[in-house]
Formats: sequence, C-alpha cells, structure tokens
Amino acid sequence: MTTVEAPASHLRENPYELAKEQLVKVAASMGLEDSLVDVLCACKKAVAVAIPTRMDDGSVEVFEGFRVTHNIARGPSKGGIRYHPDVTLDEVRALSMWMTWKCALMGIPFGGAKGGVVCDPKRLSLRELERMTRRYTTEIINEIGPERDIPAPDVGTNASVMAWIFDTYSMNKGHSVLGVVTGKPLALGGSLGREEATARGALYCVRAALRKQQLELAGARVAVQGFGNVGSYLARFLGEDGATVVALSDSSGGIYNPKGIDVAAAFARKRETGALVGLRGAEAVSNEELLMLDCDVLAPCALEQVLHAGNAGGVKAKIVCEGANGPTTPAADEILEDAGILVLPDILANAGGVVVSYFEWVQGLQEYFWKESEVNAKLNDIVTRAFNETWDAHERRETSMRLAAYGLAVERVAEATTIRGLYP
Ligand code: NAD
Repeated sequence: MTTVEAPASHLRENPYELAKEQLVKVAASMGLEDSLVDVLCACKKAVAVAIPTRMDDGSVEVFEGFRVTHNIARGPSKGGIRYHPDVTLDEVRALSMWMTWKCALMGIPFGGAKGGVVCDPKRLSLRELERMTRRYTTEIINEIGPERDIPAPDVGTNASVMAWIFDTYSMNKGHSVLGVVTGKPLALGGSLGREEATARGALYCVRAALRKQQLELAGARVAVQGFGNVGSYLARFLGEDGATVVALSDSSGGIYNPKGIDVAAAFARKRETGALVGLRGAEAVSNEELLMLDCDVLAPCALEQVLHAGNAGGVKAKIVCEGANGPTTPAADEILEDAGILVLPDILANAGGVVVSYFEWVQGLQEYFWKESEVNAKLNDIVTRAFNETWDAHERRETSMRLAAYGLAVERVAEATTIRGLYP
C-alpha cells in the first residue's frame, strides 16, 4: 500500500492567506465590523478524507481529498472539484471563499465551496479514476446534496467524473438525484451550454470591457494561457468574433504567431497529439513568455499565481481577463493597476460556469430542460448585469474592477449573514 503525497506546490504564496488579505482590504474600504470580517474569513466546514483506491495492478494507493464549504448565508454551497498533484487544503479553502464572492456577485442563491484530490489524473487509467472518484464521493457523501453542497468540474475533472459522482450518490440514496452535481453529461441531466459557459461568460466580459474603452473585438490581439475547458473555448469564441488569437498554451508549452493562430487547427493538434506545441506556422513560446507578449487582451486560463510581483511589470496587454481563479497575486494586481492595465477579476470573468451550473441545478430540480439559446440568453443577462454593476462601482468608488467586484459581493454576503443573525 502506498500513500500519495502532494509534491512541492506550484503556488508561490499561500492562497488562503491571500484570499483573507483580499477580504480584509475590501472590508476595510467598506467599514465592515471586525467580528463580521472574522466570520467571513473563516470556512464553515473543511473535511479531509483518505481515499484508498485499488489500482489496475492490484495494489492500493491512498489519495488525500478535501471538501470545504466557506459560507452558506445565501444558499447551499457550490463549487468545483479539482484533481491535481499540487492540491492543498489551503488552496481549496481559498477557492471556496472565491466561490462565495462569485455567486454573490452574480446574484445567484448559492454560497461557496470547493473540493480537491491530490492526484495526477493523467497518470490514472479510466477505471482507476472511476474507483477513486466513487470512493471520494462516498467519503464526502454526508457533506454534499442538492440542498446542501453541489459540486461541479474544475481543473482535472470533467462531465464523466460528474457522472460517477451523480451515480454513486444516487445509488446510496436509492433514486436518481439530479441536483447533487452540475456539469453532468447531457444524457444524465446536464444543461445545454454548460461546457462552454465559463468561456462564454469571459467572452461577454471582454466584449463589454473593450466597448467601455472604445475598442473593438474584431482585430484585437489576444493571448490565452491554458487550453482546457475555459481557455480552449474562450480562444475559439474570441476567434469566431474576429479577434486575432496570437498565442495559446497548455502545460507542455505555448505557441505564438503574431499574424494569428488557426484555433480550429490548434484543437485538432491537441486532440491528435495531446499538446499544442508543434502546430504548423506557429513558433514555440514558454508559458512565462506568453504572459509578456504584445497583445490587447491576455487571458490566463490555467492555474493560480501566474502573474506575480516578479513578472507583472512585463505585461503588455491592455486588458487581463482572469479565466482562471486567482491567477494574479495582490502584489501583481497593484503593478498592473499602476500600469493602467484593466483587470477583469476572476469572480466576474469566469463566473459563467457557475451561472449555468445554477441553471442546471434549477432544471434538474424541475426536471424541465431549456433550449441552448435560452441558457445562453439568460447567461448573458446575468453576466452583463454583473459586469455593469461592477463597472459602475469601479467608477463611482474610483477603485479597481477587483475591489469593486469584491465590494459588491462581500456587501451582499455580509447583508445576508447579518439579517440571518448568529445562531443560536
Ligand atoms: P482544465 O483542466 O480543463 O484545463 C487546464 C488547462 O491548463 C490545461 O490546458 C492544462 O494543460 C493547462 N495547464 C496546467 N498547468 C499549466 C501550467 N503550469 N501552465 C500553463 N498551462 C497549464 O481546467 P479548466 O476547467 O479549464 O480550469 C482552468 C482554470 O479556470 C482554473 O483556475 C479553474 O479553477 C478555473 N475555472 C474553471 C471553470 C470551469 O467551469 N471549468 C469555471 C471557473 C473557473
């Protein structure tokens, strides 16, 4: 029997400390009471579980998993599950707090949660992944549920993983429980438009931000880091809207062509070889170089803390669209702001996924499913309203888009917490 331990993390700073720092900064600007800040800084519940899993060769590996609920003042908690070798409890705590703010900013009736398993899904066979997922689900079965806490995909997980979670939970309850998880396959009560929703929401934000700056998407030069669920669809949508996609990357490196990359060819290359590097007509760049390229819009859509004090000064983009959660450290944030670069913060720019997850949950509870055009139109309404509210607060309070977004979100959660009162 072997125990799988986390390798040294890719994180430069403790993300939970950063998330609390952000909250304290926003709370100070709003004059929030210290005791309320203490309540909001803490996670309501954090569960750590051991996940013994039978491997294909007959051996047993014990993975470590987490599920954290940050806050449920506005509704059941909602948040993805990450499978990645660098997952830590504090990373999951930070991600759960950001989910609370994101749901509040979007005005949807959820609190925040997140889950993670320390593993490298690329090194597990399909059967190993299924057995590990089913055991993880069983270990957290008392924490999740349609009225309690509703997981979804995140880095390293997808619709198939959600299907196993749905099935394991339902088998234990004795009937199908559609509302227990979102991001499910369409055949199992998934929502049309969910897979593309995070990227679509980011697209709406980029469009609106360019408009505010009297710029056009057509002809704008964009660089996208990360070619997974968020990055790949965002690159496709931006390209379809007339932008010139000058750079793309995945974990094995990036590709660059100042005249524009054929995004459809990049999809084909990734599908055929598992990587983007080597695409004909594009030169290789590192993930670090991609962030510094001359472009109008930079969209980090991979992992946290890629923009930090050491490299933020080299960013040349006019707009940074945070497709990933937490890609910019607070120190980098200040550097970008001083340089006049508009940062569309994660809780706004990548909220499209949780909005359509909310739609999926509603459709599952009603057992009545909507057309894709209806899903996309409702998504546009919610994200555009949140963008406009954030923009107004950004101008009114003469503050960054991040502080404006956090201000609105924290205000809403603080209000719900105060009105509910402290139990008992
Ligand atoms: P994914 O697993 O589908 O894709 C991640 C991508 O990042 C892959 O292309 C991978 O190769 C690349 N990557 C991994 N390590 C990298 C590195 N060190 N440098 C560059 N690229 C690297 O994940 P995803 O669902 O697209 O999520 C990406 C980010 O977006 C995460 O921060 C996630 O929390 C956030 N997010 C996702 C959703 C969603 O609906 N999937 C919603 C909101 C936010």
